[in-house]
Amino acid sequence: MTATYDLVIVGAGSGNMLPGEEFSGWRIAVAEAERFGGTCLNRGCIPSKMLVYTADVARIAQQAGRFGLDVTWAGAESLGTRVTIVTRGTHLLSQHDTDIRDRFTQEYRQRFDVRLGATPERVSAAGGGVRLDLATPAGPQQVEAEVLLVATGRIPNSDRLDVAATGVETDSHGHVRTDDTYATNVPGIWALGDLANHYQLKHMANAEERLVSYNLLHPGQPRHAAPARAVTRG
Ligand SMILES: Cc1cc2nc3c(=O)[nH]c(=O)nc-3n(C[C@H](O)[C@H](O)[C@H](O)COP(=O)(O)OP(=O)(O)OC[C@H]3O[C@@H](n4cnc5c(N)ncnc54)[C@H](O)[C@@H]3O)c2cc1C
Repeated sequence: MTATYDLVIVGAGSGNMLPGEEFSGWRIAVAEAERFGGTCLNRGCIPSKMLVYTADVARIAQQAGRFGLDVTWAGAESLGTRVTIVTRGTHLLSQHDTDIRDRFTQEYRQRFDVRLGATPERVSAAGGGVRLDLATPAGPQQVEAEVLLVATGRIPNSDRLDVAATGVETDSHGHVRTDDTYATNVPGIWALGDLANHYQLKHMANAEERLVSYNLLHPGQPRHAAPARAVTRG
């Protein structure tokens, strides 16, 4: 089936917000490979914050005795998953400045088993769970757990989408290249969100969506993204 549209949105994550009332009269198609709402709503920001909030409340309930309060919450214990965090760096949040990463690492070490400077060497099945062999400055170590979460970063889906077939350029990380109006090098093709920016934050994607929306409606008078810059006094 071939059809013609004024606007085709590939991916119903942040792009899902584009078809507002200012686009009434446009013929719009949305192509989504999985579920409407994208990462943030379905498995990213919102679900993870709901888990974190529940775990924080459970922790407060468990610790209330320290303050002389008698609080019990059936189920609080069941949220007490023991977590081991393995990282190759000397700190968590290694991209942040020293004060932040020192404090964050210290806080996390109080709550979790944090293995710093540890390089995973081997993953194997063990006792219905998983075993991880690590090389650390203190010698070989092992971690055994029920589940293993590999959280070594996310990459754009530009390969799966085969953007190269359109002539759209990508950078060495697979991010679609855009100018500061979020137009790609191919006229009529725009890109926003994790596919195009390296920050991979919902707030960025939302801001880009607003700009793309404006620029689609005002061809010839595009708005430009403000350069990210910090200004300090004194
Ligand atoms: C666990 C986790 C927690 C996070 N927490 C935060 C947070 O607290 N704050 C924050 O700002 N950001 C957070 N993020 C990042 C945030 O979720 C993303 O930056 C944001 O969702 C990016 O929006 P997007 O529209 O670019 O991509 P997505 O929301 O991923 O939308 C892309 C859509 O495109 C679809 N798609 C992909 N390929 C194709 C294809 N070939 N054809 C058709 N459809 C396709 C996908 O199914 C998806 O629905 C988190 C991310 C994760 C994973």
